[in-house]
Amino acid sequence: MREHFGFHEFRRGQEQVVRSALEGRDTLVLMPTGSGKSLCYQLPALEMEGATVVVSPLIALMKDQAQALRARGFAALVINSSLSAAERAAAEAAIAGGFPAFLFTTPEQLAVPEFRALLRRTRVDLFVVDEAHCVSQWGHDFRPEYLALGDAIEDLGRPTVLALTATATRDVAEDILRQLRIPDARVVHTGFDRPNLHLAVTRARDERERLDRVSEVVVRCARSGLGGGIIYAATVKAVGEIADRLREDGLPAATYHGRMRAADRAASQDAFMSGELPVMVATNAFGLGIDKPDIRFVIHAHLPGTLEAYYQEIGRAGRDGEPALCELVYVEDDQKLHRFFQAGRHPSAEDLVNAHHALRRLSETPPTLSELQAISPLPPTRLKATLNLFRTRRVVKEDLAGRFLLLEPELTACELGRIARECEDREHREQLKLRRILELAERRGCRWQYVLDDFEPDTTHALCGRCDNCTGGRGWPEATLRKAS
Ligand code: ADP
Ligand code: MG
Repeated sequence: MREHFGFHEFRRGQEQVVRSALEGRDTLVLMPTGSGKSLCYQLPALEMEGATVVVSPLIALMKDQAQALRARGFAALVINSSLSAAERAAAEAAIAGGFPAFLFTTPEQLAVPEFRALLRRTRVDLFVVDEAHCVSQWGHDFRPEYLALGDAIEDLGRPTVLALTATATRDVAEDILRQLRIPDARVVHTGFDRPNLHLAVTRARDERERLDRVSEVVVRCARSGLGGGIIYAATVKAVGEIADRLREDGLPAATYHGRMRAADRAASQDAFMSGELPVMVATNAFGLGIDKPDIRFVIHAHLPGTLEAYYQEIGRAGRDGEPALCELVYVEDDQKLHRFFQAGRHPSAEDLVNAHHALRRLSETPPTLSELQAISPLPPTRLKATLNLFRTRRVVKEDLAGRFLLLEPELTACELGRIARECEDREHREQLKLRRILELAERRGCRWQYVLDDFEPDTTHALCGRCDNCTGGRGWPEATLRKAS
């Protein structure tokens, strides 16, 4: 570690994870954002003879990590959909030749049977799943493609699996173990407190007050020389409105959301990361895995969907350990938006029966997704959601040719109905989660205590002494500003 990374000491949990991986134990790492999860896989990888596959949800993220490793003198390949045909051919040739180092790729790639077959031609010793909470339907960043990782791990001959996430709920952690099929994994969990993050909440009466408050906080941070940060907005429209307002206030900001062109998004992210534009206004499409150490504030301009999402997003502030502000600004109606987003995400009992019936009819020659689509009455998104659920339950398996094999042909309508009901229960629990974030916002007591109690119900958490409620509203933001400057 000293020689290659220049760090003098392990941070909490790191050594344990490195040793666990070197012993060949599957390991699930739950550590807060910014605590140094990358080192947990990079260090053991250096000791391994074969390749280390690193699965990462975002192309930008894997590019950064591969570059950082190359800068330290290690070989790192990146395979994703952005490669040109020539680049792809070169990378594939390297793998076929037994490439022994870091190989960053996406779950989408690993879902492609030919790519898995290619990987089998090299030796993979370590299989790293970064941002592993994306595997969970109940997490806030669910990526259906992550469901294929369990099969990919099996196809690669079960290398040691290292799953990393900053998620905090037991549901999601259990899901990760189940989906990656590593039930006996060692779980290394360092706790979720982030003592340098100062939480505060402001309730606005209407949209104008909301904008006023957001702008006030940003302007104050800018004037005091505190530094830049991120403003999260719930909709693309709100991103535009907030950015316009900041521009009027003399503070041009970068913007980022899913409807921008990829090139514009990348330019925007670069401008923020380099410090050229110190303020970023974005939807939650921005930020997964970014490593900018000096983000001094994260403002939520709307109520986030869940406590986990909130925690993950504020976690991007203050990675350097210096104080940072996390202010949530909300209007009571914000919850309606999330209810709207949530509705109808889960397949119904009828969907399950329909899809199961179709799979049974075609079981002689198992169908591909498009073959299924051609004969199924379900709209494509619902069919996909249903197949995902079936995959989760091991009702179907996708083989190397992308065909869906029915593993449980005898399920009755009644049993399928039960699966659908379990889904409904989870949907109901998600509704409850929505209520938890509102409770956090409206509460008079310590905010950190509330968050940590929710994540770790079996542990007692002390008052933080630094949120707006602990300091009687006086501590923020002046105290933080003073400490930081
Ligand atoms: P995470 O993935 O947990 O959010 P990263 O792996 O991106 O965090 O690491 C966050 C920062 O901490 C990086 O800048 C990294 O260089 C630094 N870091 C990691 N481990 C150590 C260590 N043992 N000592 C000092 N700095 C470290
Ligand atoms: Mg990370």
